[in-house]
Amino acid sequence: MFDTAIAGSLPKPAWLAETGKLWPKWQSEGAALAQAKLDATLLWIKVQEDAGLTVIGDGEMSRQHFVHGFLERVEGIDFEHKVEMGIRNDRYKAMVPQVVAPLALKGRVHETEARLLRAHTARRTKFTLPGPMTIVDTVADRFYGDRVTMAMAFADLLNQEARALEADGIDVVQFDEPAFNVYLEEAATWGVRALERAAQGLKCTTAVHICYGYGIQANIDWKKTLGQEWRQYEKVFPALAASSIDQVSLECIHSHVPAELMALLAGKDVMVGVIDVASEAVETPEEVAATIERALRYVPGEHLIACTNCGLAPMSRAVAEAKLKALADGAALARARRA
Ligand code: ZN
Repeated sequence: MFDTAIAGSLPKPAWLAETGKLWPKWQSEGAALAQAKLDATLLWIKVQEDAGLTVIGDGEMSRQHFVHGFLERVEGIDFEHKVEMGIRNDRYKAMVPQVVAPLALKGRVHETEARLLRAHTARRTKFTLPGPMTIVDTVADRFYGDRVTMAMAFADLLNQEARALEADGIDVVQFDEPAFNVYLEEAATWGVRALERAAQGLKCTTAVHICYGYGIQANIDWKKTLGQEWRQYEKVFPALAASSIDQVSLECIHSHVPAELMALLAGKDVMVGVIDVASEAVETPEEVAATIERALRYVPGEHLIACTNCGLAPMSRAVAEAKLKALADGAALARARRA
């Protein structure tokens, strides 16, 4: 009971990339960079295991950003001529590449780090990919002329890589869809449809992560405009409950999301965010256990996975390590209390 996992990303060591940034510059290039990425992956596998997590990820050490890491391996995208675009409904501006031709994968995207992860832990493994709707919201379209058509084209590419990750031995493939909390109507209709298409035919566990973003200033400011109760999940959860996706990852601790919305996910595994990624303050195991216990009113124990609210990428390594430990210790405490 109570598996423990991270949402996806972890801080990159200073020798791999700039610290504290969402789009950090790499510190080396070529073979040296490739080696540094794998060394950092190995380091975080060890740290997650030592903290006591039961599901292990690669920490996204090999990608600069959770969306662009995938796009770099896609044909039909012009990375040379990036344009400034307002993303997540204009919450912030980003320099994004442009889709200029039919999309196709250049080959495998995450083979090296997925196989490294599988080879170096005996525990269950989770691997993250960006979701189709979030990709469409993070790239400029100069070719398809229609968001849904382009989302379905990306879903097919994601499906190709997801099936390969499954063949690499990955146990859980998770699609990250922060855009689901922004485009509520579209998320419940074509967003979930595109997501199911990305997960089509997978026999491993499938998951979706929906959050209110990293703990960066633009997101903190946005959250202030959302009012006292955040009911965004209310729109998309019924569509996800009716979908083929097995697990849903959501924000909980220090969030204004009413806990009872979790009841809308009956039948699904729920990855409950018990670690705040917008605060450097490290949770106590007691706080983590209390958040788990609050979620248990709406999610049966056998369906509950304790998780982080979102990725830990922009944090310091020391804080991230302490938070992983608090996550595992808090889950152990909640388990012991129920035994
Ligand atoms: Zn997130």
